[in-house]
Amino acid sequence: MTTPTLTPKKSAQQLLTKLAASEGFTAVVALLEHFATDSVVPGICTTCEGVESSCEPDAEANMCSECETETVQSCLVLAGVI
Ligand SMILES: [Zn+2]
Repeated sequence: MTTPTLTPKKSAQQLLTKLAASEGFTAVVALLEHFATDSVVPGICTTCEGVESSCEPDAEANMCSECETETVQSCLVLAGVI
């Protein structure tokens, strides 16, 4: 178990905005509405901001393929929908 370098985490809103843009949505609400009922949703790493295109809707600690820490959260978790 390694402790990642402590850096101030970006707010969920900032991460959601970045995620929405990377998925082609102009607004976070559009992203959430689109994926609200899907079984696979995009997520974003809260450590390195790497985007993961396929997460479980309730993913809170998925493995990030970029920084290899378990800090990927789905867009629905970030938004507090789940
Ligand atoms: Zn990462």
